[in-house]
Amino acid sequence: MQKKTVRDYIRTIPDFPHEGIMFRDVSTLFADARGMRLCVDQLLAPFAGEKIDAVAGLEARGFILGGAVAHQLGTGFVPIRKKGKLPGPTYSQDYALEYGQATVEVHKDALPAGSRVLLVDDLLATGGTAQAGIALLERLGCDVIGCAFVVDLPELGGRALLDRMGMPVHALCEFE
Ligand code: 5GP
Repeated sequence: MQKKTVRDYIRTIPDFPHEGIMFRDVSTLFADARGMRLCVDQLLAPFAGEKIDAVAGLEARGFILGGAVAHQLGTGFVPIRKKGKLPGPTYSQDYALEYGQATVEVHKDALPAGSRVLLVDDLLATGGTAQAGIALLERLGCDVIGCAFVVDLPELGGRALLDRMGMPVHALCEFE
């Protein structure tokens, strides 16, 4: 029997959080020991041999992945959080959502300028969240060496957006 791929562990929940949305649920992937291991190993594979000083993760599922990836690399982890959650002085970045806007923040002293950072999240859709995260890391003076996602939804254009920015993107699987 063929072994399951990362994609096989992901569950789709129709009409969540709104009618018409097919939510790709990675909790089933994270809950499986083999799935989680595969996921972390595959996220890192293309960056083998690169100098990486830190991993940054986008709230909230990017924290689960980012912590595991940082541990594997032997680096620290930096959270990029939704507005109002970080206790110290922060930089803020607004970005557009389908309806309205959102804001993410990073601690101003999270990393020294010049740090080479890998940005991690579970899923790339329009790319707005990742773009805001990159902008924050660049305000710290960091060099974002690439972005790693479990899922890419290419029809929503995030991949194309990050490609236009010249940002290396690695995704483990795609859904339509
Ligand atoms: P974007 O900013 O690229 O449009 O949306 C990506 C962000 O929304 C990610 O932080 C991701 O966690 C979340 N997201 C949007 N749709 C889904 C989905 O179907 N499944 C999961 N797991 N996350 C989603």
